[in-house]
Amino acid sequence: MIFKLRRPDADIAWKNPEILKRFSRYREIIENTQIARYIIAKTVECDFNSDDSVENLEKLLKQKSKEFNKILSEDINSQKNRKIQEKSYINLSETIAYKYLENCKFCERRCGVNRIQGEKGFCHLDKDIYVSSAFLHWGEESVLVPSGTIFFIGCNFGCVFCQNYDISNAWKGRRKIEDIAQKVDAKKLAAIAQKLVENGGINVNWVGSDPIPCLQLILKSLLYQNINITQLWNSNFYLTEESLDLIIDFMDFWLPDLKYGNNTCAEKYSGIKNYWEVLTRNLKKIHDDGSGEIIIRHLVMPNHVDCCSKPILDFIAKEVPKSVVNIMGQFRPEYKSNQYPEINRRPTSSEIQEVKKYADKLNILYKPVS
Ligand code: SF4
Repeated sequence: MIFKLRRPDADIAWKNPEILKRFSRYREIIENTQIARYIIAKTVECDFNSDDSVENLEKLLKQKSKEFNKILSEDINSQKNRKIQEKSYINLSETIAYKYLENCKFCERRCGVNRIQGEKGFCHLDKDIYVSSAFLHWGEESVLVPSGTIFFIGCNFGCVFCQNYDISNAWKGRRKIEDIAQKVDAKKLAAIAQKLVENGGINVNWVGSDPIPCLQLILKSLLYQNINITQLWNSNFYLTEESLDLIIDFMDFWLPDLKYGNNTCAEKYSGIKNYWEVLTRNLKKIHDDGSGEIIIRHLVMPNHVDCCSKPILDFIAKEVPKSVVNIMGQFRPEYKSNQYPEINRRPTSSEIQEVKKYADKLNILYKPVS
């Protein structure tokens, strides 16, 4: 039933044996022959005192992750026989997330603000979370559509060329957040996600601005969801190691951006430090320890083939080879791009072809999703 709603190019992509192999679990969740990770996580009993120290709770989190991964390797029948727990591994993760909010370290900006008490860091969000829109997205990669996409307000990056600048950064200090988005609690967020799935979404796609500053509420919303559906993290991926630990076991599919091949370009255009170290660390982690089902999005930027695109493809081929890559040619000089003449145009078709040829040389799988 759901598969009839796909975009025609999805059929072509799914006929590719490598796509089937690399996204096998995702496909099986769509077909209901596998159980989504977050549902399995709810069966992992977790007894803890929420007043315990963060260090002790983090230690317990590591133990629960091991327990979870052992269950994940069991066959589906024994997984189906497991009972949903009143207090589970997800409750623990969500509790730690709210503790991190008191000294925010969700992303590597590590603002250290107390968001619970109303302080705001670069993303301009306190503890309250706002959804700007939620709809079935047909423009994502073919194997992901229709995608139940939920857009949040507030971004931890400051990309000068942002195409979503109205919900990422342009509102900061100018408009009241309540005027441009709807405040949600965990139950409401879960209801939005489930409605998208009931309407035909084949995944729940957490996106932004960026979902990282909203991580605590996304985790909490998992407690109120119960449909067997892929949870997908669509992000700039500038998470801290600690916050990635909170979500790594619950996400079935990853959709990270990999924009810059070096720190200088990242700092210049997104105002971000240590981009390369953070992104490569996080990508390696989801590839080796997470679901490993990943589409890396690389937006080809004008005049950035040698400094960004090629080092990125070298890294992917060597370090995260199970990933599929979307080589994106749709860069548009939006927002403040006119202040940077070298990126104030669209990439040429010869730049895009050069990147694709380089990917071919490295044997990177990109065609089915680009
Ligand atoms: S999510 Fe990132 S940008 Fe926002 S307050 Fe936390 S550390 Fe700062």
